[in-house]
Amino acid sequence: MKEQIRVLVKLQHFDTETVRIKSTLNDVSKKLENLDSSLKEIEQTIKDQESVLNELTKEYRDYESDVKMNLAKNKNCQEKLRSVKTNKEYQSMLKEIEAVKAENSSIEDKMIECLDRMDETEDIIAKKKDEYLQFSDYIKSEKENIEHEAGINKKTLDELDMDRKNVSGLIDSQLFKKYLVIKEQQGGLAVVPVKDAVCHGCNVNLPPQLYNELFRYASLKFCPNCHRIIYLKE
Ligand SMILES: [Zn+2]
Repeated sequence: MKEQIRVLVKLQHFDTETVRIKSTLNDVSKKLENLDSSLKEIEQTIKDQESVLNELTKEYRDYESDVKMNLAKNKNCQEKLRSVKTNKEYQSMLKEIEAVKAENSSIEDKMIECLDRMDETEDIIAKKKDEYLQFSDYIKSEKENIEHEAGINKKTLDELDMDRKNVSGLIDSQLFKKYLVIKEQQGGLAVVPVKDAVCHGCNVNLPPQLYNELFRYASLKFCPNCHRIIYLKE
């Protein structure tokens, strides 16, 4: 029985390690996804700001052509002014010239505002592009680290799988079934050590008689509280 328990302890160790490494590997893909999505976020901000800049540039050009049109209009008015016949016509022409001037002055204010916004947007784009480059470098080295570690873990996992197969063959088939059932019921932990009469699966004190029996290895013993297979931690 002592040998069977020794094999069970090994099996439990392989299974626990397998679960731990699998969860680490699972974290790895999440980590990589998070890094990629952070980079994509920066990329999206750049795209958005570039389209804002595009719109602003268009808006500015529209203002420019409006100003040009108004200037031409004014030139036309100035010429007409020389040939007007009545004071009424003259006054109305002056009014029109003033109106066009006022309109251009308001457009020029908008143009200045537009230029300010273009500057701000260009600043944001430059900063974000900088951030993108720095973050790309960081991600590259981080990915290398993560993938290197994952490679080691995958190798360990393969080794554990081999070890487990070898060890499984050494266990009595009934015992192996029992192990699997308890493992399923007890959240993956079926075999636990006992030290100083305390079960390390549930931290409960074992009755003295049961504790003493553990030293004899006559049969498989179970914790009366958590029902796991117990063995003496030597
Ligand atoms: Zn227990």
